[in-house]
This record gives sequence, C-alpha cells and structure tokens, in this order.
Amino acid sequence: MSDAVSPKPCPRCGAAGEIRKAGSNRVWVQCAKFGKDGNCSAISRPEANKKDAIASWNRMK
Ligand SMILES: [Zn+2]
Repeated sequence: MSDAVSPKPCPRCGAAGEIRKAGSNRVWVQCAKFGKDGNCSAISRPEANKKDAIASWNRMK
C-alpha cells in the first residue's frame, strides 16, 4: 500500500485541498480558496499527522 494519499477536491467548491502544517504535530487540509484566497470555508480538523488530516478532509461533505 502506498501512503501517498492525497486530499480530494474541496467538498464545497471543487478547488484543490491543500495541506497546511503548524508546529510539529498540527496538520490540516484546507480549500485552496479558503478565506482570503477565495472565500471558501472548507477546512478540516487539525490532526497530529498528515495521514489523519487527509482522512479527516476526505470525509467532509
Ligand atoms: Zn472550497
């Protein structure tokens, strides 16, 4: 199995999901058009690692 799981497109607007990171253990995925970049509000919960953050994002509707 590959661990190269990537974020699905944004569930609200279809733009790319972008991985963001803060510090060593806060990772989340947000829409490429999140906030000031385009006023989409889609953002995942912060998780401890990239894999969980992507999983969280990919479950969003
Ligand atoms: Zn979006």
